[in-house]
Amino acid sequence: MTVIGFIGLGNMGGPMALNLLKAGHQVTAFDVSQAALDRVCDGGAVGASSAANAAQDVDAIVTMLPAGGHVRDVYLGDGHVLDAAAEGILCIDCSTIDVTTAREVTAAAYQHGKLMVDAPVSGGVAAAQASTLTFMVGGAQDAYDKAHVILDAMGQKIVYAGPSGAGQAAKICNNMLLAISMIGTCEAFLLADKLGLDRQKLFDISSNASGQCWSMTSYCPVPGPVPTSPANNAYQPGFSAAMMLKDLKLAQEAAQTHGVATPMGAQALSLYALFAAAGHDGLDFSGIIKLLEGTSGP
Ligand code: NAD
Repeated sequence: MTVIGFIGLGNMGGPMALNLLKAGHQVTAFDVSQAALDRVCDGGAVGASSAANAAQDVDAIVTMLPAGGHVRDVYLGDGHVLDAAAEGILCIDCSTIDVTTAREVTAAAYQHGKLMVDAPVSGGVAAAQASTLTFMVGGAQDAYDKAHVILDAMGQKIVYAGPSGAGQAAKICNNMLLAISMIGTCEAFLLADKLGLDRQKLFDISSNASGQCWSMTSYCPVPGPVPTSPANNAYQPGFSAAMMLKDLKLAQEAAQTHGVATPMGAQALSLYALFAAAGHDGLDFSGIIKLLEGTSGP
């Protein structure tokens, strides 16, 4: 059994912490939201009064926070986690953040005598609940080896991506591709509608042909063909358009910094920014079909 401090218990972190408990680990949990903390404490976690408090007397820390600023604050801010935690413990940041912040916080962790990996996830809330997430891990090999047993309790596939920041690099490249493929899938369904082709027929054919992709077969943006997709639940997330917009901004910042032409990624960012500006950032990212068909409203 490992004692784990878990900080950030939202849509993803909450079920991930519960899966650590189910796997027999002990969890000391903290979230600025009392409701989020209560849900995990009801599942057997010990509640902490602050992030620093959650980092005391534990073997490892897992963070699952919204963005880079939150990660920096928690690890390096006032009364921070890196000061509170014991020497030699392992820090695992599962949030999706920019590569630069990931590398800076990891460097600070090593200066404080800790090990650290970036381990963002793919799979969404359903995978977090079912402990079938994919983790993309960046960091030193010894830290990765130690992290593996903890990540195993929350995921199905643990992939070593390379040195510090490589997990975040993999995540933003993957999500840029996901946004582009989702928009393409939506466009195909809208064109099929106008051509009088039944949506189910397009799905049956395309999911077995060269147009096959995850956005089509697992997360279909129209109701019907994939009963579990958010399209069947009024586009409730799932993975919100706001989160996708955040990841696309991270990808474009990285592309600009490194002088890489990503015109489709830039176009995807523009479309998600329009969708968010129309007030739909709380919808699932597959709801972008409403913007493309002209029904998203102001
Ligand atoms: P969320 O907003 O539901 O949860 C974040 C939690 O962090 C909230 O409960 C919030 O109260 C808490 N928090 C914020 N600041 C804090 C602080 N200083 N101390 C303690 N707690 C704090 O977000 P989420 O959907 O769980 O996503 C978390 C991360 O996972 C994000 O980086 C996101 O990009 C990534 N991600 C999300 C999904 C998804 O489908 N939701 C999929 C893959 C990756």
